[in-house]
Amino acid sequence: MPELAAYAIHPAQSRGRCHEEAAPQGRSEFQRDRDRIIHSTAFRRLEYKTQVFVNHEGDLFRTRLTHSLEVAQIARSIARGLRLNEDLVEAIALAHDLGHTPFGHAGQEALNSCMKNYGGFEHNLQSLRVVDVLEERYAAFDGLNLCYETREGILKHCSRKNARALGELGERFLRKRQPSLEAQLCNLADEIAYNNHDVDDGLRSGLISLEQLLEVGIFSRHWQAVKKQYPALMERRLIHETVRRMINTLASDVTRQSLKNIRQISPRSPDAVRTTGPMISFSPSTREEQQQLKQVLRLRLYQHYRVARMSGKAKRIISSLFHAFMEDVKLLPPQFQEKAAYDKARTICDYIAGMTDRYAMREHQRLFAVEERWS
Ligand code: MG
Repeated sequence: MPELAAYAIHPAQSRGRCHEEAAPQGRSEFQRDRDRIIHSTAFRRLEYKTQVFVNHEGDLFRTRLTHSLEVAQIARSIARGLRLNEDLVEAIALAHDLGHTPFGHAGQEALNSCMKNYGGFEHNLQSLRVVDVLEERYAAFDGLNLCYETREGILKHCSRKNARALGELGERFLRKRQPSLEAQLCNLADEIAYNNHDVDDGLRSGLISLEQLLEVGIFSRHWQAVKKQYPALMERRLIHETVRRMINTLASDVTRQSLKNIRQISPRSPDAVRTTGPMISFSPSTREEQQQLKQVLRLRLYQHYRVARMSGKAKRIISSLFHAFMEDVKLLPPQFQEKAAYDKARTICDYIAGMTDRYAMREHQRLFAVEERWS
């Protein structure tokens, strides 16, 4: 691993954990964070949570777990080129989606509207809540007791109202400051990962066609180049080769442009990074091309009527679960009933947010299906 740059987060200078702990042996503070994330319950649940496709729709589509692994891979390789802290980047990337509800964005919108009068629901804030409060694995504290820098990276967005309640961690949203370069990088790696895997999954599902994607500059350029170089290649393999070249191009573009930005501003410390503009970015022309790709994905994939049908169903499942529990907390499993005595809506929200796609569907059946056999 190359030596860390002056603007990277050095583990020895971490702002620390909420609960003080002895220094880790044989691994860095951020490696310990990564290890805690991997061992968490919320991390294992990502395997059965939707990215775009509902988990049971097919075995080969991305789930939140494989998405998170892809984000970590992309972020780590760019981090190395920029001499940023790879361990921190990996921890942030693996944790960035821990707070996602079942059924992707549809689930999140539904839960947010259920929680309208009770403080709302933001998946980013929920990811932080998972690592700060909800995981129950350690004897001495609730949550995973992660380092400040990891938590800072997990909290990508936050409303001003919620930021005010977060103390030091919320400050940057109020003062319009930047997070560490490691956090900025994970944000962009997330975008690179989902744009590219949604191309792959979109084509595999048949919801988006090759013709539609060939209207996108970056896709068609690489597609044509691969085809010219390997005229006899089967279509599926051609797609894979195209996607891998796109990811490569984007990662190199981010590395090149970010180095240029960093050189211009020349921050001498991680704190200097926080008080300037964002430094991890695509080049202007690549940014434009990514916008074009996103637009096609939005129109052809995310707004496809079959995706919309599934999203509608997902919203109905989430909101009927929420309202059934609100009406009668005795329907909740006992450990949640206890917590509901203190804060009913938030407890129900945490319970639903933690569900996997299929658990939510089963729970819905258990509560609403009318069968001859009662159980
Ligand atoms: Mg993500």
